[in-house]
This record gives sequence, structure tokens and C-alpha cells, in this order.
Amino acid sequence: RAPLLEVTDLHVEFRTQYGVAKAVNGANFWLSPGETLAILGESGCGKSVTAQAIMGILESPPGFITKGEIRYRGVDLLAVSEEQRRKVRANRIAMIFQDALSALNPVYNVGFQLSELFRMHRGMSRADSKKRAIELLDQVKIPAAKSRINDYPHQFSGGMRQRVMIAMALALDPEVLIADEPTTALDVTVQAQIMGLLAELQQERNMGLILITHDMGVVADVADRISVMYAGKVVEEAAVYDIYSRPAHPYTRALLESIPRLDMKGQELNVIRGLPPALTDIPKGCAFNPRCRYAKDPCRQDPPPPAYAVAPHRTARCHFFREVLGE
Ligand code: SF4
Ligand code: MG
Repeated sequence: RAPLLEVTDLHVEFRTQYGVAKAVNGANFWLSPGETLAILGESGCGKSVTAQAIMGILESPPGFITKGEIRYRGVDLLAVSEEQRRKVRANRIAMIFQDALSALNPVYNVGFQLSELFRMHRGMSRADSKKRAIELLDQVKIPAAKSRINDYPHQFSGGMRQRVMIAMALALDPEVLIADEPTTALDVTVQAQIMGLLAELQQERNMGLILITHDMGVVADVADRISVMYAGKVVEEAAVYDIYSRPAHPYTRALLESIPRLDMKGQELNVIRGLPPALTDIPKGCAFNPRCRYAKDPCRQDPPPPAYAVAPHRTARCHFFREVLGE
């Protein structure tokens, strides 16, 4: 299948008081219709910035796309007119965030905020748009949607507010939904419910879903493929089963070893030594080399090429992936 969304060699920079921060340094990935891709990495790896670049919301501090392509159904959004770009972003790609409160307007009730979308973008009447708003709240499983339509965002619990934000994102029937840490602020039970809801809606609507997270624990059940990011690059890309059973990149391996496991209760967790690099000062060679237990001399000089083919549909950005796989 042709990709719905394809990001090629994306570079994003921020000018900061400490110099140029290279937040995204050649990110590559694609998303097929109806597929869930998880983008996984520690905070500061460029995963949120990548999403903001796709959505055109690189605002604070000002970020610049310095290179690359963002193709939506084959059309490079960075090469078309502002008008065309805006159309695709408004109608075809939607995004939800960790913090629903900041994404919703506190001044208007949720029914009004949803109805506005239908009136503005679909030209619906007041009555029809209200009906549609109730249907949507129902679809995201807000109990007694009809009676909650006049409530304000602060009158909803954290989990219910997240559902309202999902309803807003789905209002214009996007083909791609980008979810940036959608459950991080919620407690564990509610997290599972929201992930379940996202998975269900994604299937019903055959949407492409990009799930951005630092938490390897939440992606196993819902993702089809995983792109692991480190220092602004995708370092491994594979089907979810391959990532969990046989990681090919030392960083992915270290992430997996840092997931708490029931059978290791009481034992110390393997946390990855050191910290991700400052984006104003990315190490020479392979950016992961100071933290990598497989690192050898070439790693400190030569950056690994974007994608060694580990297997069909499977890549890793590591000179020594065979060793990591134990081959
Ligand atoms: Fe580690 Fe070298 Fe592979 Fe980088 S290229 S991940 S430093 S082994
Ligand atoms: Mg983030």
C-alpha cells in the first residue's frame, strides 16, 4: 500500500541562547492507511517536534524546518502553497496532546466548541451541528453525552477531558491522527481505557495513527510498527513483534531492559547510563556512542547510515546491529 504520510530526512532547528538546537536531524518514517505507528524515545529525542513540524505548529521558541519532505498522499506539504498546506492540515491530519486542558478553550462549553467546527468547516446549521456534537461525544464514550454537552472543560475529569479532546480531533474525520503522549498525565486505569478507545476508533475509522510516547509499556498492545528515535534521528524501525523479541539497535535494547517486569520484582532496574545529549552539542559519529555498551572506535568517528536493512521492512542505524542481534 502507498503510504498515507511519509517523512523523509526531516531536519528541524531551534535558535536558542546556547546556540542552534538540532531537534530533528534526519528523521525518516512512513504511515500506511489504517496502521498504528508508535514513535518511541526519551524526552528531547525530537518526537514531539517531528509531530509539530507535520502539523505546522513549531511556534515556541520559533523552530525552522531546514530540510526534508513531509509527504501526504504523495504530495510534499513543504513544497505546496500555504493555502494547500493549511487545507490538508485542517481537514486530513489531526493531533491530540498530553494536556487536554490547554487544547480546549476554557471559556466555552464543549458542545459549543465541537459545534463550531461543524459550522465553520462543514457549513452545518446550529441544530445539526449540535446533534453531530452529541454523536461524537457518544462515540468517545462519554456517559450521558446529551446532558454533558453544555459543560465546560473544567467540569470533566482528566480522562473525560481527554475523550473530549479526541472528539474534537475526530470531528472533521481525519485520515491521520497524531497522539503525543495522550495518556501520560492520567492514572494507570484511565490510561488503559484511553488507549483502548484510541485503538477502537482507529480500527472503526481505518485511520492512520501515530502514537508518540516515551513509554514502551503502552505501545506493545496497540502499535503495528515502532520507530525508535534518539537525538533527532530514527535509530530503529520494525514491526512491533520484532522490536520486542529481537531489538537490533543497542538503544532499543536498553529501553526494553528498562521496562519493569513482574518476575524481576525487588531487583534493580537496568536504566540506561548517562543522559541524552544536549541538542546544541550532539556527539560526533553515532550520537548514542557515549552511552552505548557496544560502541567501538568507528562509532566515535563515522555516523551510521540512516538505514542498514536488518531484514525486509526492518532497519537499524547501527554499525554493529548484527552483534546486537547476536548473529
Ligand atoms: Fe552503539 Fe556504535 Fe551502534 Fe552507535 S553505531 S549504537 S555507538 S554500536
Ligand atoms: Mg514531548
